[in-house]
Formats: sequence, structure tokens, C-alpha cells
Amino acid sequence: MIISHELRTPLNSILGFSDVLASLNLDKDSLDVVALIEKSGQSLLKLINDILELVKMEDRADKTAYRDFQISQLAVELSESFQKSLEEKGLSFEYLPATDLPDSVSGDYPRLRRVLLNLLDNAIKYTESGGVTLSVNLKRTEEKEFYHFTVRDTGIGIAQEKHEDIFQFFTQVEPALTRSHGGLGLGLGICKRYVSVMGGRMWMESEPGKGSAFHIVLKLNTVPKADQHPSRI
Ligand code: ADP
Repeated sequence: MIISHELRTPLNSILGFSDVLASLNLDKDSLDVVALIEKSGQSLLKLINDILELVKMEDRADKTAYRDFQISQLAVELSESFQKSLEEKGLSFEYLPATDLPDSVSGDYPRLRRVLLNLLDNAIKYTESGGVTLSVNLKRTEEKEFYHFTVRDTGIGIAQEKHEDIFQFFTQVEPALTRSHGGLGLGLGICKRYVSVMGGRMWMESEPGKGSAFHIVLKLNTVPKADQHPSRI
């Protein structure tokens, strides 16, 4: 989609150059201004990404993309992408894999990554102290293997009466609060749709003041050791 390139490229240069600016010898006031440019740029990038994704979904251009990958490698990548925001907020991050997870699995890596990125981004956004965990468990039935991913935070939580609506497009729990965090209420709707395209199920548990847990259960195929290609992972 050409337009996505046209929108993202100038914004990425704004973000890149604000990073360069922040590394120069600036006084505190100027650094605060650069931090605001960066924060607004990141919010705008999230909006653009969500809107483009929605358009792609409506065009049915979002084809499944199966490939082999390592869940542990995905967890490392995710924690690296959030390192800066975790540090800025003084939050911890823990990856908690079950001991029986296989080395490699096959599944729709880009979609799973996108869903986990969104859930972790929200978990960090709506948590002021404590931390975030990503756990992965394996459930075996006679002929299938289901993977259960949970993103848990110790943040503000969500009132019971909002639990149903939260996966609808354009739903935000507290618009005033969410406005200051950026976002249009598209993220969880996109996640739910992607999990359903992957043949999975998604739900949440949350209590105000006690944090939230977002669960995904989906089928991934275990890659037999003999078929693993480290260079493709
Ligand atoms: P946005 O892209 O605007 O963040 P989402 O669809 O991702 O929208 O989330 C919808 C709303 O759900 C958010 O505006 C926020 O109010 C609430 N929310 C999502 N995740 C969490 C969380 N981990 N803790 C508390 N509230 C959350």
C-alpha cells in the first residue's frame, strides 16, 4: 500500500531526527520539548498504523502468513521494543514460558507479534507501578496443541461493565485518560479480529486498581527438531 509508505516515511524521519536532537547537548527545557515531539510522533505513528491496518482488514488484503519461529525469540524482540518505555516508567518485565514449550513452532508470526505488541503496549501505557508479564503455556488435547499467551499488568484495571465493549472498534474506557495516552480505541478490536483469523480465542480479566490480564489461546504447530532451519527463525 503506497500510502502507508508516504505516511510513515516523513513521520519516521521526524522521530529519528528528534532522537538525534535529544542526543545533542541541549538544556533541560529544550530536552522537554524534544520529548514532547517524540511522544506526539509516537502517538501519531500508532494512529496511522492502526488505521492502515483497519483499511487492510476491510479490503481483505490481510492474508495469513505462516512461518516457523521461536516463541522465546519473539519474547526477546518484544521486550527489546519496550525496553525504553519500561525504563522510563520504572516498570519490570518478565517472560514466563512453560518448561514444556518446544523450540520452534509454526504459525502466523506477523499477526501474533502484532497482537502481543498491542497488548504489551497497553499494559505498559496503563500501568504506573509494578510491572508486566508475558506467560506462555501449552495445552495438549489428543490431536492438537494449543498455546495460551497471557499479558498481565499491575495497572489501573478496567471496570466490569466495560469488559464486553472493550474489544469493539473505537471504544475507550476513559476517553480523557486515553486521550493523553494517544490511541483511537482500535487496538483491541484489531487484536480480537486477528486472533479469530488465526482460529483462536481472546478474552480478558480485570479489576479496577488491581490490574488486567489479556488471554489468547490459539493453535500453533510444533516444528519437529529435524525440520528446524535456524536461519529462517
Ligand atoms: P487504544 O488504541 O486507544 O489504546 P485499545 O483498543 O487498545 O485502544 O484499548 C481500548 C481501551 O481499553 C483503552 O482506551 C483503555 O481505556 C482500555 N485498556 C486497554 N488495555 C488496558 C490495560 N492493560 N489496562 C487498562 N485499560 C486498558
